[in-house]
Amino acid sequence: MKNPPFTYHRPTTVDEALALLAEFGDDGKVLAGGQSLLPVMALRLGSPEHIIDIGSIDELATITVGDGVTIGAMVRHAEAEKSADIASQAPLIAAAMPYVGHRAIRSRGTVVGSIAHADGAAEMPAVCLATGATMSIASADGTREVAAADFFQGFFTTALEANELLTAVHFPAWSPTAGGSVVEIARRHGDYAMCGLACSIDVPNGTITEAALSFFSVAGQPIRVAEAEQALIGKPATESSFADAATVVAEHLDPTGDIHATANYRRQLATVLTRRGLAEAASRIGVPA
Ligand SMILES: Cc1cc2nc3c(=O)[nH]c(=O)nc-3n(C[C@H](O)[C@H](O)[C@H](O)COP(=O)(O)OP(=O)(O)OC[C@H]3O[C@@H](n4cnc5c(N)ncnc54)[C@H](O)[C@@H]3O)c2cc1C
Repeated sequence: MKNPPFTYHRPTTVDEALALLAEFGDDGKVLAGGQSLLPVMALRLGSPEHIIDIGSIDELATITVGDGVTIGAMVRHAEAEKSADIASQAPLIAAAMPYVGHRAIRSRGTVVGSIAHADGAAEMPAVCLATGATMSIASADGTREVAAADFFQGFFTTALEANELLTAVHFPAWSPTAGGSVVEIARRHGDYAMCGLACSIDVPNGTITEAALSFFSVAGQPIRVAEAEQALIGKPATESSFADAATVVAEHLDPTGDIHATANYRRQLATVLTRRGLAEAASRIGVPA
């Protein structure tokens, strides 16, 4: 299906983009890689009158290292996938990349676009929640920072206002004694997962001091299971600790059911992924689970 008619704008600076967003408000939409927005428009699920294409704003296409890594709004998935800085500073992003659609989609789609789109089945929002990422948001009125835990607010819903641009996302420094993984179960490789997990454990002296279990495709937004994370603290990174955490996940995770999977099936997948993901995270830091 063809896209509905719209007026196309191609600013070359952030200030120009913010002025356009302020002018058009709810009638305007940011276009980054277009891999989600254009299908939405073609399916008539949205028909913005003004498209503000940020693809020519060079200052947004940067990866900056400093107390972690900051990814600008026009960094495409494929660049993130190849970046040695992201692999070392934010390894969960690198781990998630092979699951984000297919190569052609990753060559156009952006990391930050995926976060702004906030699909509860997508990998990147769950990675943000697991790592405690911070969103840098700008509008004509100024700038603000929002923690990932406050940013994702429900089904395709975020803290972003219509006149705001998500300029970058900062991922905090990764502990050298931490291991992480992204695991998921999908019907075909490249499909959105029926259930997925972005997880990490920090094991400085043989026992786990920090844990993050961030599930995706279980609700309208990514969900951390604090009870299961807590159950891992002070334990050795062993299969038995991971199995105990999986039991706690089954008790506390309340997934939604839909045409792709029932709630019970998703809960079962989440327990399998907890054991699998934590074992993979441990293996990344040379801890035999
Ligand atoms: C066949 C197919 C399979 C896919 N499979 C997966 C998958 O398995 N996992 C996955 O995570 N994704 C998947 N995707 C989506 C893909 O990752 C998209 O690239 C991504 O979700 C959106 O990034 P984008 O740059 O293309 O954003 P766009 O499509 O340009 O924008 C998406 C939305 O975010 C808004 N937006 C974008 N950037 C900003 C910004 N900087 N500030 C404010 N708002 C902004 C837009 O206004 C729009 O509402 C798939 C896409 C397709 C077509």
